[in-house]
Amino acid sequence: MVVDADQDYGIDARMGVLFDAVASHGFTSRQTIMARIAEGGIDPDDYRIAGSRAKLDAWGDAPIGPRDFESLLADEILTISRIFRRQLIVPDWQDFCRAITLIYEGVAADRSGANADYIPILRDADPEKWGVAICSVDGQRFCLGDVDVYHSIQSVSKPLTYAFALLREGEAYTSRFVGTEPSGRPFNALDLLPDMRPFNPCVNAGAIMTAGIVASGSPEKSAFDITHDLMALWQGLSGSIAEVRYSHETMLSEKATAHNNYAISYLLQGRKGLPRDVDLHKMIELYLSCCSIEMTCSMLSVAAATLANGGVCPLTGQQVLPTEIVKKTLSVMQVAGMYDNAGVFTLQVGLPAKSGVAGAILVVVPNLMGFATFSPRLDDYGNSVRGVSFFRDLVERFTFHVYDSLSGGRTGCKLDPRESQHNRKQRDLSDLKWALSHGDRHARNVCELLLQVMMDISLADGDVEDPELRVISQNLDEMIGAQVSVQQLQSLSLERQAEGANSFDALLRRLADDCPNLDDNVRGLVLDAAFRVACADGMVEPEEYERLAAIAGTLGIHRGILDIQVDRFRRLHAVKAT
Ligand code: GLU
Repeated sequence: MVVDADQDYGIDARMGVLFDAVASHGFTSRQTIMARIAEGGIDPDDYRIAGSRAKLDAWGDAPIGPRDFESLLADEILTISRIFRRQLIVPDWQDFCRAITLIYEGVAADRSGANADYIPILRDADPEKWGVAICSVDGQRFCLGDVDVYHSIQSVSKPLTYAFALLREGEAYTSRFVGTEPSGRPFNALDLLPDMRPFNPCVNAGAIMTAGIVASGSPEKSAFDITHDLMALWQGLSGSIAEVRYSHETMLSEKATAHNNYAISYLLQGRKGLPRDVDLHKMIELYLSCCSIEMTCSMLSVAAATLANGGVCPLTGQQVLPTEIVKKTLSVMQVAGMYDNAGVFTLQVGLPAKSGVAGAILVVVPNLMGFATFSPRLDDYGNSVRGVSFFRDLVERFTFHVYDSLSGGRTGCKLDPRESQHNRKQRDLSDLKWALSHGDRHARNVCELLLQVMMDISLADGDVEDPELRVISQNLDEMIGAQVSVQQLQSLSLERQAEGANSFDALLRRLADDCPNLDDNVRGLVLDAAFRVACADGMVEPEEYERLAAIAGTLGIHRGILDIQVDRFRRLHAVKAT
């Protein structure tokens, strides 16, 4: 609807459009405005809307007219406008969160693996805890499950201690003492590079040496005071959404069981020598106390988002780390963040990550968002079982793998949350319509596929009735502007019915043959066409779902992507029905 807001409301047209987004009958309310902001994934306490929030709170529950709307929100209208017009980095935030929920729930059933047991506090942690937290580079947040449980960050501290060393001592000095090569060896191995440096800052030897570099730069400070400097860094990275804590209990246990880490420290001292001859005990104390820093999953997700955002915290706007240092930190996480399974993780997930033995994993999707998961049961490599499964499932559904962009249209229709799915489909369809109007050969083939797929979904229950043919005819018109009458469809349906079950098999064979020539957009459209017919009566029957799954499978589209679509449909339908 185009509103002549100047005339109607006495405010400029653009402001009028924003007002319309939340108004009915010429008024809106504080609740409606805040609900719209929350829908976009933005916390009511976000600093970017703090002024408007305060004004709205002072305004209370009275109705808000257009001019009030303007005066209440004008100070932060740029941000409000981006939220209301779905221009944040993930436009359909609610859809994305729903898809995340499905993955989270799917992974929850996995009870394999075991808690780390080398110290009581980890051994006795509740193994059932399971949390996932997300923060986008635009500060959109979503949390599920046990995201507020404090736990020691353990090895998750390592890349940030490295970042701190780079910040304080520079790259040249830091790299004199610690390498950046993957080790392929267990994290606590006593192995070194041929030049006697530890492999990288994420294995214990490298992290201990990094602690030594940091400690050597502040001779006047105790290890505990330096730990506080690192805690301040974590506080900034996590946007101070909660307090970074320190666990003395963890530290005492770590110290009592640190024989291997002492062995590593003496080896480092004996081979390479320690930076500025720093005291070995101070070095190891700093290393262990960094492991004993405590944070929550939701805090770690914001820290991950800060890294994804080049060092600027999305929740505070503060540049916490220089972008150059973030680049190096992420590179080290990419090659060595997941213990000696880092290579497989890179292959499967393709994102910089760091895990810790308390069960946390922090994953960065550069320029898009940060993730953190928490679940204490670990696999043989020391990585959280559920966490790893979550990220594998995530990347099967979304184009997050660093090389998904290589695919030239063959990612298996993975979703890209950066793009509104609705806009993407509209654009694909309008391209196809246009090409079809010029008789494009490829477009005609697509048109035929759409028709056959729709017909075979209708045939899932054995026959096709007239209302179903009308749905097909309407959808063909709507999707690609093809005019196919119900009569024409009737004869086609009789032909296909005569073939019985073979007709669907023949369709799958055709799809399989054509598949190599269909790009992701077309594959998505074919599944979408099938989906539209399956849903036309308001529900997806089991036989229809089976056929949809077979079509998706033949087109190389992951079942999880179909399930996200079915779930979205069910939700929207349930909303309409109420
Ligand atoms: N604190 C453990 C240790 O130094 C390492 C922790 C971890 O790998 O997460 O042995």
